[in-house]
Amino acid sequence: MARIISVANQKGGVGKTTTTVNLGASLAFYGKKVLLIDIDAQGNATSGIGVRKSDVDKDIYDVLVNEHPMAEVIHHTTRDQLDIVPATIQLAGAEIELTPMMARESRLKSAIKDVADLYDYILIDCPPSLGHLTINAFTASDSILIPVQCEYYALEGLSQLLNTVRLVQKHFNPDLRIEGVLLTMYDARTNLGSEVVEEVRKYFRERVYDTIIPRNVRLSEAPSHGLSIIDYDPRSRGAEVYQALAKEVLAHEQK
Ligand code: ADP
Ligand code: MG
Repeated sequence: MARIISVANQKGGVGKTTTTVNLGASLAFYGKKVLLIDIDAQGNATSGIGVRKSDVDKDIYDVLVNEHPMAEVIHHTTRDQLDIVPATIQLAGAEIELTPMMARESRLKSAIKDVADLYDYILIDCPPSLGHLTINAFTASDSILIPVQCEYYALEGLSQLLNTVRLVQKHFNPDLRIEGVLLTMYDARTNLGSEVVEEVRKYFRERVYDTIIPRNVRLSEAPSHGLSIIDYDPRSRGAEVYQALAKEVLAHEQK
């Protein structure tokens, strides 16, 4: 049975997609069978791991809205053991279309059931909002990984995120946990970075990963080649840190 982790933060541009793709590829590198699920209409995880929009017939929209079987929308990637359920722009309509639907919060959870036995890890790349799609992700997940960008106001908005977690725990998924908080885009050249690290550690304590993701230009280049950092530049600092994160996630599970 897969461990299901949502990568979420309603702020855009904090490193959710970069983390989903590269943590997923790193877990696959260490021998785990991994499924990425893209639930952002931008489809950045989809294109970033090399699935072309023109090759996508049905996507996560059809799964959530039309109850199309998830197994039939899975695409393999160029990395062994790493698959993805893609998203395209048609998902943009889902927030509104889900509103009047039966069991709208648990549609992703129901859809995942059929494929959960095929994987060790399922990582869900959430959109930058706390709407129905994110609620579906939280309802389906064992835990949430929260990327936090090392910048001013890093903690801003996190209380809303934690409120949503509590709501989902109360109504739909009492076992939902915080998997960990990941500091991203750290810039060692500024004092700001270390101040933010201290602030976030004070607030989230042992839930903050030891691994901190620095700014690394190779990480921002990789998606345009349709590759994770592990395949784009395995010797880069970016590859090193996401592999270190994968080791922490694996160690965490053993505890
Ligand atoms: P989100 O999914 O939260 O919106 P992304 O993962 O798409 O955020 O990251 C936003 C932008 O920053 C992207 O262009 C991405 O390539 C870039 N980026 C993310 N993490 C890093 C990093 N550690 N170093 C450099 N660029 C990064
Ligand atoms: Mg994203």
